Amino acid sequence: MGSFFKGGVHPPERKELTEDKSPERLEPGPELVFPVSQHLGAPCKPLVKKGDRVLVGQRIADSEAFVSAPIHSSVSGTVKDVALRQVPSGELVLSVVVENDGLYEPDPSMRPRDPRGLSPDEIRRAIREAGVVGMGGACFPTHVKLTPPPDKRIDFVILNGAECEPYLTCDDLLMRTEGDKVIEGLKLVLALFPQASGLVGIEENKPRALRAMGEWASSLGEGRISVFPLRTRYPQGAEKMLIYALTGREVPAGGLPADVGCVVLNVRTAYQIWDALFNGRPVIERIVTVAGDAVGEPKNLLVRIGTPIRELVEACGGFAREPRKLIAGGPMMGIALSSLDVPVVKGTSGVLALSEGAAFWGEQEECIRCGRCVEACPVGLLPYELNAYVLARRYDDFGALGGVNCIECGCCSYVCPAKRHLTQSMRDGKRTLASRRR
Ligand code: SF4
Ligand code: SF4
Repeated sequence: MGSFFKGGVHPPERKELTEDKSPERLEPGPELVFPVSQHLGAPCKPLVKKGDRVLVGQRIADSEAFVSAPIHSSVSGTVKDVALRQVPSGELVLSVVVENDGLYEPDPSMRPRDPRGLSPDEIRRAIREAGVVGMGGACFPTHVKLTPPPDKRIDFVILNGAECEPYLTCDDLLMRTEGDKVIEGLKLVLALFPQASGLVGIEENKPRALRAMGEWASSLGEGRISVFPLRTRYPQGAEKMLIYALTGREVPAGGLPADVGCVVLNVRTAYQIWDALFNGRPVIERIVTVAGDAVGEPKNLLVRIGTPIRELVEACGGFAREPRKLIAGGPMMGIALSSLDVPVVKGTSGVLALSEGAAFWGEQEECIRCGRCVEACPVGLLPYELNAYVLARRYDDFGALGGVNCIECGCCSYVCPAKRHLTQSMRDGKRTLASRRR
């Protein structure tokens, strides 16, 4: 085990709202929307057109690019449209709109199979064909992560079960109820890296998940998988912090986990790998935590990808009070929702509705140079200064001061007494620099 990272914050956890709520299946209404880009990398091209009949698990969009992941229908029905639709980020993205026939007729490709004896390339191909991406929210195509440069020896495959964002409990529930499948998914990944050990990191505020995963690792892990408790401190689940805590290795600035011999996957991603390889099931559903003080009855819901977020809120009794802020994901790194009429996508781990009192944000005031953002930054940046550079459009200075190393964790904004929009300006600065380089 390595050491603790510097900085970070400990916001109120609010996990009690849903940590004992087993996932309830929510069947969707008449219309589902499947954006052709639900991942980092090249968008897919639709493979279907208006009027086509589609089945559950049928591939409806794909790309020839390596860094991409196909999209599958989660219901059977008829393609109603292929058109621009709003996604949780607020952008308009080309989407396949499917009218749900309520029959849930499966595509014949979804059938049980035995992955033993598959070659590493066949395993990677099956993961790609199932559209598996980082299910913790990053949405990076998993087959790409599992194809590090040949000169990088992988010593550790790390499963991220930290779930350090407040409110979210979907990974906790998954580990407690289907931990055996998560471990089986990890074993399939370990088959790609014969030298590597499997490490599962779980924050110590999830004792039941720690116990369940520890038992599954002992009984199924063939001596290659260990489970470790992690200090409960945000952002413990960020890749760099997790690697440091579990191995003591530091990912260099601008580097990747593979540079220090690690591959990091979310626990849900490992589950999806199991489902793809053993059942031929692509990513068509996920658990979403619906919580926040403005939600009538917070729950964990098992929902089909493409379901409108409005239906999730309705299934939780609607709003108990006026929400001040709606978020897809967690309160620290999630995306502010401007509408409920957007679909659940692969990376949607949570839907939060927070009232004035529960929201972490407020009106922005002048910086008082208190230095709290500097103390909280887990990667050692000077957020107040970077913020000033972005506001002055001094992007070269932003880059020279290391702004590109920001992991967008939100700690600086959380602690800032002046409610400066620090994280947003880090994102803006990074995007501007990246687009200039392109
Ligand atoms: S500057 Fe970036 S990495 Fe540092 S606390 Fe803010 S969001 Fe997190
Ligand atoms: S925490 Fe806010 S007020 Fe304090 S130095 Fe940072 S930006 Fe300025």
